[in-house]
Amino acid sequence: MSAQPRTLHCRSSKRWEIDSIQPSDGTSLSNEHAEKFFHVPDALSTSGSGPSQDKELNKSYRLGSDKKKTRSNGRISYRSPSKRSGEAIVTPVAGTTRDRRECIGRIGGVYFRMIDTAGVDGEKLDVAFGKRGSTSLDGAMIRQTMEAARQSDLVLLMFDARVGVSSDLAETIRWLRKIAMEGKVSANPDAEESTGQAQREIVILANKLEGDRWATMNSEVMDNLAEISRVGFGEPIPISAVHGEGMADLAVVINQLTRKKRKSLGLAEEYDDFETEARKQKTDPEKRPLQLAILGRQNVGKSTIVNNLLGEERVIAGDTPGLTRDSISVPWLWKNRPVQIVDTAGIRRGAKRERSNEIEDLAVLDAMRAMKTADVAVLVLDAQAQYIQRQELAIADAVVREGRALVVAANKMDLIVDADYTAKDFAVAVQDQIESRYPMLRRTPVVAMSSLLGENVRNLMPVVFNARDRWERMISTGQLNRWKDEVMDEHSPPMQNHRPTKIKYIIQTKGRPPTFLLFCNVSQLPVNYLRYLTRNFQDTFDMFGMEVRLVVKRSAENPFDGKKQKKETTGIGGWQGRQKRMTAHLKKTGSPIQKGKRMQRQKKRW
Ligand code: GDP
Repeated sequence: MSAQPRTLHCRSSKRWEIDSIQPSDGTSLSNEHAEKFFHVPDALSTSGSGPSQDKELNKSYRLGSDKKKTRSNGRISYRSPSKRSGEAIVTPVAGTTRDRRECIGRIGGVYFRMIDTAGVDGEKLDVAFGKRGSTSLDGAMIRQTMEAARQSDLVLLMFDARVGVSSDLAETIRWLRKIAMEGKVSANPDAEESTGQAQREIVILANKLEGDRWATMNSEVMDNLAEISRVGFGEPIPISAVHGEGMADLAVVINQLTRKKRKSLGLAEEYDDFETEARKQKTDPEKRPLQLAILGRQNVGKSTIVNNLLGEERVIAGDTPGLTRDSISVPWLWKNRPVQIVDTAGIRRGAKRERSNEIEDLAVLDAMRAMKTADVAVLVLDAQAQYIQRQELAIADAVVREGRALVVAANKMDLIVDADYTAKDFAVAVQDQIESRYPMLRRTPVVAMSSLLGENVRNLMPVVFNARDRWERMISTGQLNRWKDEVMDEHSPPMQNHRPTKIKYIIQTKGRPPTFLLFCNVSQLPVNYLRYLTRNFQDTFDMFGMEVRLVVKRSAENPFDGKKQKKETTGIGGWQGRQKRMTAHLKKTGSPIQKGKRMQRQKKRW
């Protein structure tokens, strides 16, 4: 294999980067993320929009810092290693990615939807085709990858150019060709001309080729490239995913494909679909998807619930704890209402996690990030455990502290329900347990279900939407102040500094979470009184399962009080000045200034 493919690829001297790769929920991924087996389905559009667009989209991710965090007192803790916010989990461990993770990518101004998939081990492919153990994890991973390939317009098959075409890669190529023959993905780039449909391509990316020296110094690499170019998917594109090299060539492929697809669909050449969609979502609240995070301990049935809601095997579920690693965000329509549902990894306490297990740390970090950007977080419990676990209470606490709305899903009810103990009893018991630990979380909505049997799972979404509506509700100032008068009549706040404490008026400064400003004649209200106000507020306005933020503000001083004070202390009109003048007058005339004369003199001065 000494053929020197000199015309292999004209590499741009300009170094291009994947400008920004964002999961569909708005986070951003790194170039390292590309060091996988990528599928690029549904190229969306090209546009000349700059990075400002991405800044806008990433706004919601500024909620909290992803710095190293450890909260003592047995709460959530996670040691944050190298992972930057929004990236897929990247480690040197083979098989780290399991599910398929969708995101919006942009390269050279071209936007597209991208799916990151699990690596395909060619030698285990037979499990996917049901020859052995199709229920195994390998089988599930390959099925996910296959589904991603089927949905795609472009499949990017990445291989390590320094290793070459292994038997495993050869198997994978054979498998891809089979998928191509299914018709959805075509190995022939000219297929469009014959069918009139959008082109589906397979492009090979030869990764780990940094710099230019490999072309002249490393004949082994050149042999590998020559070998792969003979498999029938055209010449590979040499890239370095870590360093972002070779992205210009990839951008050209994607750009061409996008144009062809738009042409075949009869859409305009110049387009800004992505921006228009983003703008619509921003301005029209009905279009803004409900951000829903599914949280909980390992193996409580989070993935099963997600699959049940979506009606497909979208995420891998199974007995093995810790199957889900990356938070998988899936756009979905529930009764024509957009939802962005995020399945997350099971959260275990730091102390229970192995200290060497970086992947689990990253997965927990990812889950917490999904929680921070959610509107509503569903905490899934395993009803079989009978009692709500300490870790689950810690998650509930974290959700509410972060200002998200909380809904509890008591799963696996099929394992405990009998004639004497109904799902409703269990829901009440869970509410009581939460309230006993966190009184402010009393009456948090609880939905009892069995996701395996699909029982009551459909009761979840109405409760979730109701929670979101309450969470972002704005209450009028009139209503608030009528409520304030009533609660103060019932219980007025205790006196401070021998003066009665007054709450003058209340306004709502924002929803999501509901936040109120209490204008008082003091700068602080006693904690007990604030608790009383919060409880009463929750009862009156049905604000359960979320934090109600009451901010006390001492209202501005009465301007006349200020003038009086000034007069009394300093300046010409102050008491000191007046006393001086009176003393001087007394010394001079031997009699005090008469009041009337004093006024006359002052009037003259004015
Ligand atoms: P996750 O780790 O929280 O995502 O949990 P999975 O969704 O992967 O489920 C873990 C295990 O619990 C799987 O074996 C499921 O079949 C099982 N499971 C999930 N939901 C139910 C349920 O409602 N009832 C029963 N009996 N088992 C369930």
